Amino acid sequence: MDRSEINWHPVIDENKCTGCGLCVVTCGEKRNVFGYDKQRRKAVVMFPDNCMVGCINCMVGCLWNAISFPDEQTIKNMARSLPKEALAKELAQKIEKNPELVM
Ligand code: SF4
Ligand code: SF4
Repeated sequence: MDRSEINWHPVIDENKCTGCGLCVVTCGEKRNVFGYDKQRRKAVVMFPDNCMVGCINCMVGCLWNAISFPDEQTIKNMARSLPKEALAKELAQKIEKNPELVM
């Protein structure tokens, strides 16, 4: 599934954002979803499609409750519609690469 078809990324309520920068710092270096508007002293969602689908770390971490996400059930419903064979194939590949995961 193309990432651009999945509506999953943070939304910042600018009225609540204090500009502390915690979300910018804590979102993983490889993702870097957030940028920072120095003039306005606000975090900005710069690369929404870099957000890992299902992750809510920045929302949990925002001390000012300024970050929100779509309803997680949307993602679960979408995932349920994916072919089970595709998941089974990915699981087999992961286990093959990481045999220590098998009990
Ligand atoms: S963590 Fe919250 S308050 Fe701090 S910059 Fe990010 S959105 Fe704004
Ligand atoms: S949910 Fe995770 S990946 Fe997405 S912006 Fe927040 S910390 Fe980054």
